[in-house]
Amino acid sequence: MTKVLLIYTGGTIGMMQNPETGALKPFDFRFLTKEVPELKRLNVKLESVAFKKPIDSSNMHPKVWIEMAEIIEKNYNKFDGFVILHGSDTMAYTASALSFMLENLSKPVILTGSQLPIGIIRTDGKENLITAIEIAAAKKNNKPIVPEVAIYFEYELFRGNRTLKYNSAHFDAFKSPNYPALAEAGVTIEYKENYIQKAAKKTLIVHKNLENDIAVLALFPGISKKITTSILNSKGIKAVILQTFGAGNASTEKWFIDELRNAIKKGIVVFNVTQCLEGRVIQGKYETSSQLKQIGVIGGEDITTEAAITKLMFLLGQKLPAAAIKKQLGQNLRGEISN
Ligand code: ASP
Repeated sequence: MTKVLLIYTGGTIGMMQNPETGALKPFDFRFLTKEVPELKRLNVKLESVAFKKPIDSSNMHPKVWIEMAEIIEKNYNKFDGFVILHGSDTMAYTASALSFMLENLSKPVILTGSQLPIGIIRTDGKENLITAIEIAAAKKNNKPIVPEVAIYFEYELFRGNRTLKYNSAHFDAFKSPNYPALAEAGVTIEYKENYIQKAAKKTLIVHKNLENDIAVLALFPGISKKITTSILNSKGIKAVILQTFGAGNASTEKWFIDELRNAIKKGIVVFNVTQCLEGRVIQGKYETSSQLKQIGVIGGEDITTEAAITKLMFLLGQKLPAAAIKKQLGQNLRGEISN
């Protein structure tokens, strides 16, 4: 029988209301399995590990990503697939981070959660959980159908590092604006095999060094020189994600370009990611991005901010020379950008 490991980290799916304050907080994992007796009827051998202290995913941290990656590493040969139960708030960050940390993945790592706790009658958690397990267990010719890090939520499966949380009120909480869904669940689960990564033939490598000396500088008309300068000169800063307009455009004011040029000269990596959810960065398309290209800003193509942050954490953690980091930033490592 196919074996799936369920990793419970927290999130709304396993939360209960504090009767005094009314606020939702993570609850014991045993409560979750009790609420979903259907799990016993699945044709899957299910085992689980739960974090001692489940968290609201707004408390997510790279240290916890390392913990998750280590659980997967330790159990990799024993299981056919993995399901991570996780709060939806930062699920896209975790999925992106794990995609970079788990090199040569050949088994499914499916993240899911819910917008309503599993104990609530109208919960979306049951369907998400049951289908995520089915996807993690799904095989064709005895090989996993989805050997990559993905998010399953409200009848759709997305590549993890293409996904963002888009809606805090609807069950349909995630979007993958620049890459098609990997599967759609209806009466049957329809896998879009052309869009799914092929399983790696090499041995799994788990990367556990992540560097978080990164800033995100979101541009807006009228951004101040004082603030920009102080961000670019922050102590210990190694990389800046420049959230630009449209196809990667920014102000051509001299002070702004000079500040960026100085930062790059000092060895800070500047990564251009657009504020638009769809479309891509094309440095040089407009005059307002030509100078960025000239001074050595790296174009983020169609990467999400979530994937850009975690890709930088991963690459900086490799302690590579700046030139190698810049080269890999522009390359597609785990299906996070379309070249
Ligand atoms: N705040 C919750 C979390 O991210 C929201 C959710 O689970 O949907 O942990």
